[in-house]
Amino acid sequence: MSYRVKGNTGEWEVVIGLEVHAQVISKSKLFSGASTKFGADPNDQVSLVDAAMPGMLPVLNKQVVEQGIRTGLGLRAQINLKSVFERKNYFYADLPQGYQISQFLEPIVGKGNLTLDLEGGETRVVGIERMHLEQDAGKSIHDQHPTQSYIDLNRTGVALMEVVSDPDLRSPEEAGAYLRKMRSILRYLGTCDGNMDEGSMRADVNVSVRKPGDELGTRTETKNVNSIRYVMQAVEFEAKRQVKVLEDGGEIVQETRQFDPSNGSTRSLRSKEEAHDYRYFPDPDLLPLVLDPKWVEEIKASIPELPDEKKERFIKDFGLSSYDAGILVIDRDRADFYEEVTKGGDPKVAANWVTGDFFGALNKSGLTLAETPVSAKQLGGLIALIKDNTISGRTAKEVFEAMWETSKDADTIVEEKGLKQISDTGPIEAAIDEIMAANPSQVEAFRGGNEKLIGWFVGQTMKATGGKANPGMVNQLLKKKLAG
Ligand code: ADP
Ligand code: MG
Repeated sequence: MSYRVKGNTGEWEVVIGLEVHAQVISKSKLFSGASTKFGADPNDQVSLVDAAMPGMLPVLNKQVVEQGIRTGLGLRAQINLKSVFERKNYFYADLPQGYQISQFLEPIVGKGNLTLDLEGGETRVVGIERMHLEQDAGKSIHDQHPTQSYIDLNRTGVALMEVVSDPDLRSPEEAGAYLRKMRSILRYLGTCDGNMDEGSMRADVNVSVRKPGDELGTRTETKNVNSIRYVMQAVEFEAKRQVKVLEDGGEIVQETRQFDPSNGSTRSLRSKEEAHDYRYFPDPDLLPLVLDPKWVEEIKASIPELPDEKKERFIKDFGLSSYDAGILVIDRDRADFYEEVTKGGDPKVAANWVTGDFFGALNKSGLTLAETPVSAKQLGGLIALIKDNTISGRTAKEVFEAMWETSKDADTIVEEKGLKQISDTGPIEAAIDEIMAANPSQVEAFRGGNEKLIGWFVGQTMKATGGKANPGMVNQLLKKKLAG
């Protein structure tokens, strides 16, 4: 499944590394007690520390540190027992301190990795270089007034985790799979809500191209892309643009670019020569962060079963394909829902129902899993009825539709609608005898070699029994009787 960009001089390989900024779930900010709630009025959640009033001192939020450790453990990464907060100095209107407190030389989390779930159930492991904690900046608003800009500092000082991948991704699809998996893991851990449309997760997209086997090429970095689809578009656009520049005899300059969602293109913001020298230095207001290994162990013990382990268990215990298991573990609610459905028996049939009719119905009615009119227990009840031959798989679809409409249990509906499958041979044989007697020429044709007619007889028998005859039994009895 290799992805290549075709140029005039042959095929090019695309190399991608992502820097993901994820907002930490925490009631208050990284160094202040101000609230982090989304959707407040502008400047409603700004403490004196966030506004950088002279003499204010940052106080590290322990909950954020715990979330950072959880995330590191979830990314199978090294937790550094000593890390250091540094000042990254730059001027910007929405950065009142004149610097961002971040981690640079000594981040809290070191090397780890993440498993991509690719098309067709394939997987691939991608390296993670590091993760550090840092403050978010405020927001400048330029579209509310003809001549003035406004500043909203609510986001100033909110804790972010920056996760930096190795340059291991090789296609837009892999970049998308990386972000989906990252979001899934963070949500399982409860460390970031992953809502990209609220800005809780965004990515800087580093892209370069090379001829297969060559050294890494020069990369560009497209900043702050806020949807998975946009990241994939940015990769695709950049890769094609770079191939064209190189084949036309040009050079790629290392630069920062901006994504334009209106047409999926990127454009240059600033080149690396103009790049800031951030003059990083350890923040004199903050001591190095030293972790008690016992605390790290406690956090480790509280990490829930994560998607990769869950997937493995579903494959092993329930006999699911890697693909189905992958879909079912994407989020925890979904996985829990499925596990509840399996209590109806037959986990494979349960997986087909959940990923097929059930997700289809949710999608069609625009509902979330939490809003489902059919509970997991009820769906399990439906599957139990198929399993014990009370209804056929086909009738089950009708029952499911009625369940969706009424939220009633499967057996109630089967009872009310009289849908119980006929598995007694008596009534089925009687129906078959009648049909054969009424259609002697068809019987003759069948016996004369037109075996396809069996389908017609099945149809007639199902019709005569109101669709309730056990189809396996119908087939069996027909074959016997028609053979004469
Ligand atoms: P910086 O500090 O300038 O952002 P880093 O070395 O930390 O640079 O790299 C940032 C990101 O760029 C990482 O995700 C890394 O994987 C990616 N990256 C580095 N080199 C390349 C390259 N040649 N092509 C694509 N991505 C790259
Ligand atoms: Mg960078």
